[in-house]
Amino acid sequence: MITKTVDAILDHALAGYDISEAEGILLLQQKDADIIDAIRSTADELRHRQVGDTVTYVINRNINFTNICEQHCSFCAFRRDEGETGAYWLDLNQILEKTTDAVQRGATEICMQGGLNPKAKLNGTSLDYYLNIIKGIKNAFPELHLHAFSPQEVQFIAREDGLTYAEVIAALQDGGVDSMPGTAAEVLDNEIRRVICPEKIDSATWLEIIGVAHKLGLPTTSTMLSGHIETPEQQIKHFSLLRKLQQTAKEKGFIGFTEFILLPFVGQEAPKPLRRRVGRDQPVLSDALLLTAVARIFLGNWIINHQPSWVKLGLAGATTALTWGCNDIGGTLMEEHITTMAGAQGGTCMEVSTLQAAISSLGRNYQQRDTVYGSIMSKAEDSWAID
Ligand code: SF4
Repeated sequence: MITKTVDAILDHALAGYDISEAEGILLLQQKDADIIDAIRSTADELRHRQVGDTVTYVINRNINFTNICEQHCSFCAFRRDEGETGAYWLDLNQILEKTTDAVQRGATEICMQGGLNPKAKLNGTSLDYYLNIIKGIKNAFPELHLHAFSPQEVQFIAREDGLTYAEVIAALQDGGVDSMPGTAAEVLDNEIRRVICPEKIDSATWLEIIGVAHKLGLPTTSTMLSGHIETPEQQIKHFSLLRKLQQTAKEKGFIGFTEFILLPFVGQEAPKPLRRRVGRDQPVLSDALLLTAVARIFLGNWIINHQPSWVKLGLAGATTALTWGCNDIGGTLMEEHITTMAGAQGGTCMEVSTLQAAISSLGRNYQQRDTVYGSIMSKAEDSWAID
């Protein structure tokens, strides 16, 4: 009976329709290996129809400019108090050194996020501090795409300086930010947020800030932190909120979300209470893959690009996710601190050739892209076609 129902849902999705929240929940509740494989193959077929077979990657560098943070998210092993062992705060010269190195290694994007450091406004406003970084990078490398500052950082600047979200986002855009990471979404459910990130912006505020960014023409990514204490109902609610927001953006002619990235929880070095409650240190790959497939089926008509996290799943896990609905392997990153400090075993940097080899191992073509999924055909990195 359940098989028939799942078959009907999958047929409906393959006919091009959006599935409902109840249908998405039912898909996530499946345990039978044959049914799960049918979900996987539906997601893979939808990926093929919606975005094709080529797998993309971006050459980027992560710069987490400080880990000093006023908040205490219960999954975070990255944050430090000022003066605590391991606390750091990069100055502009250090940021520019990392950026120069990234450009020399072919990066087209700098992805920048950091802790919420109240001392950011010591020499002016908080906004001044953020703009100083952006303008420093853009003056030196105007062609670089700056993918920077989450909705939580936008709210932090707005609160510190008494500005509206629109004022902050417009100023960041004017300063040179080209797109916004859709991080800090975690799970868009306030019951969950009260446990895992009680000081963070609530679900409605995250959606509001992202909506303002879209309306101002600033594209964003979308993410979900999965595999901790959330239920299938809460996972699907999260997808549903993303889908509605993207429908609004599209109706108004904006790019909106450029991609969806699933971020499975790594708890090895996370603060003990949540780690104990979740009861394991590394993500369960099978759970992440089923959720990856359901994300494609639920969101794919509206958000066509789906990316796994090789930092969280390891490269082998992320490569497997390319057969569960994903079409992008992500970025080279060059350095990664937030998840690595949480105990992730995926590494902190990927060579382009390593990403290309992983994609080729599936018999799929690869293609370098920019941050907003434009193709980059350059030098020896041109698209590689399988005969
Ligand atoms: S997740 Fe971000 S906001 Fe939360 S404690 Fe860590 S650095 Fe701070």
